Amino acid sequence: MKRIIRTAETVSVGTELLLGDTVNTDAACIAKALAMLGIHQYRQTAVGDNRERLEEAVREALSRADLLILTGGLGPTYDDITKETVAAILKRPLLMNADSLARLEDFFRRVGRRMTDNNRKQALMPTGAVVFPNRNGTADGCAVDCPETGKTVILLPGPPSELEPMVREQVLPFLSGYTDRVLVSKNINICGMGESEVEALLHDRMAKAKNPTEAPYCAEGEVRIRVTASSSSRAEAEALCEKSVKEILETPVGRFVYGVDTTPERAVVEGLAASHLTLFTAESCTGGLVAKVVTDVPGASRVLKGGVVSYTNEIKRRLLGVSEETLEKETAVSSACATEMAEGARRISGADLGVATTGYADGGEGVPAGCAGLVFIALADENGTQVKELHLTGTRAAVREKAVKQLFRMILDSLMSRKENQ
Ligand code: ATP
Repeated sequence: MKRIIRTAETVSVGTELLLGDTVNTDAACIAKALAMLGIHQYRQTAVGDNRERLEEAVREALSRADLLILTGGLGPTYDDITKETVAAILKRPLLMNADSLARLEDFFRRVGRRMTDNNRKQALMPTGAVVFPNRNGTADGCAVDCPETGKTVILLPGPPSELEPMVREQVLPFLSGYTDRVLVSKNINICGMGESEVEALLHDRMAKAKNPTEAPYCAEGEVRIRVTASSSSRAEAEALCEKSVKEILETPVGRFVYGVDTTPERAVVEGLAASHLTLFTAESCTGGLVAKVVTDVPGASRVLKGGVVSYTNEIKRRLLGVSEETLEKETAVSSACATEMAEGARRISGADLGVATTGYADGGEGVPAGCAGLVFIALADENGTQVKELHLTGTRAAVREKAVKQLFRMILDSLMSRKENQ
């Protein structure tokens, strides 16, 4: 039978909380999440980085509540003692978690820092824990279920920028398995507006929103607003979400919304199909990735006529009609070349839209100094050609993926301005 969690307590760990240097916003975030789930919270405790007092606080809270959530003290230093203390109390020895370790190694590789043994400590997890990957920092969170005592303990990182998304995206869905409430989420997809602009425009309503909650977040280069409603019935939770989504669409942000619960590529295919428009791709540095991602969407044949991978200057010239002069004077990685590629794509295929990518995916042989990640993307249609210069960072694969995402944004922007002009 499903175990229902009815009561919870929070223990916030960190001497800075007791000194008044940090306001305990984590406890407020967790309190709101518990309220949404219909879990009663009767006590919150703050405790310093002291093993004996932390142990006492954990034992006391566990003697009263079904669920204990701890925040902070998951870092790599000697005063980060939360995991060790809880593992000892629950008799769940810490084990190295391979996925957490791989994420940590990847993080240090990306930021170009050496990983120390202290850092490896952050990948240790209590035996049998469900791990919550941290996409904004190094300390993964986790949940430990103890069927023998009927208790659940959740450990979360202290920094609010790490804790808040983890609560929204991982803790809420995890806990909804232990309540009789139903949670429904909708993601409003936004293009052409940054996370901070969205936040500034919607701050007042987001701060007030309790059920549904509303929060902007960035995922893989795109901005979304996640609306989450809780109710005892799915139909009511759906209705609450729909009402909020409708209201947000009526705000100034609405103009930048390209869909709800969709992806850029799906929105591109559906948007082009709805407008009876076709597309042809001319790709250099992305090597066919634009066409590949478009054709990942079922029904892409309604919009994609085809594409050319014009990796060499010869193919850019012979198939797409890029001029000798452009290639010599401006080089293949230039605004002029991207423009001529997009226009050529449109001309040779008869498609409504021609799109192009050309750039340096990394700093390999023959790439001018400082030009790794320089990419030009272009879109040609009956109104002319627009081109964008991008300075992208990351590995070769990351640069190519980001270029594709930016191109989809460009297509979505153009589809949205068509709609506005209709
Ligand atoms: P890290 O990996 O950064 O060490 P951690 O899980 O060990 O994370 P702490 O070291 O306890 O977390 O806290 C890191 C920072 O997060 C603190 O300096 C503080 O600014 C912030 N923080 C910690 N706890 C809270 C809280 N309850 N509410 C708001 N901010 C907090």
